[in-house]
Amino acid sequence: MKKRMFIGIDIGGTNMRAALIDKQGKILQLNKIPTDNAAGAENASKRLVETCRSLVQKSPEWGGNVVGIGMGVAGKINAKEGLVVFSPNIPCMRNYPLGIELEEGLSIPVVMENDANVFGIGENWIGAGHALDNWVGLTLGTGVGGCLILEGRLWEGDHLGFAAELGHIIVQPGGPLCNCGLRGCLEAHASGRALMQGVEEAVEQGALSNGPLFEKWQRNALNPKVIYECALQEDPTALKLFNRMGWALGLAIANLFTALGIRHAIIGGGVSASWDLFVGPLRESLANHSSFLSPEEMVILRSSLQDDAALVGAAKLAMDLTV
Ligand SMILES: [Zn+2]
Repeated sequence: MKKRMFIGIDIGGTNMRAALIDKQGKILQLNKIPTDNAAGAENASKRLVETCRSLVQKSPEWGGNVVGIGMGVAGKINAKEGLVVFSPNIPCMRNYPLGIELEEGLSIPVVMENDANVFGIGENWIGAGHALDNWVGLTLGTGVGGCLILEGRLWEGDHLGFAAELGHIIVQPGGPLCNCGLRGCLEAHASGRALMQGVEEAVEQGALSNGPLFEKWQRNALNPKVIYECALQEDPTALKLFNRMGWALGLAIANLFTALGIRHAIIGGGVSASWDLFVGPLRESLANHSSFLSPEEMVILRSSLQDDAALVGAAKLAMDLTV
């Protein structure tokens, strides 16, 4: 009998990744294509169908066939209708039925979830959360995504189209403006975008007017990784931004631990590569904002699947729904 296999898809603002994955969560083959927002949703959808078809055709070489597809999308989705409702980093996908297009194009069932939730499902299955019952997950990327795993399952709330949107917890009333329109969200302190905005503000306020970080800003060559490298060279503005990131994460996680009576958090996403710069301030802030747990009881873990978490989680989602 042929082995059941799955395709896990991760749709981001820059790239769409699709992987052929077996039922142990092993990635057998990975395809990556540009999202190319400017070319429009239909174009992206067609190319995604093609890249998935090539994985379906490859699966017999691995002794299996693809029985389900799971897809994580950065943004708000309507899973029931296979719809991307709104994705801030992929504006062309607004109200686009990407799930339906994929399902019709390949004649294989497709399930969708928010990207932070598939990160949670992946880490919970075979990642840093596999031995934990309860934990809070945060993905630090262009924005901040969140998920809650409670009693070993993804928390879905009242099925309102969002759950555990931890990036939009307010950590500083009246603070920096967030992409969601509110001020002082966690995302406005702890995301790649927050780092970029922080540099802009420092320049506007005259606090940053020389040095490598300023030069990069002048040449329009800033990105979160450059800001990280400048912080390693002890640029005070860059260091301040990573301290602020750690402080905000610690405050948010402390409040979540207090509210939920749990004590583990897992942090992933591309910007979490700057771990060594924010984890110290994070632990300090966590200790300062917790009255029920001692610092030793609170465990902050790094994602163990890293870039693969969302792909593996999306495949697991498909696996659970096609049993
Ligand atoms: Zn917000």
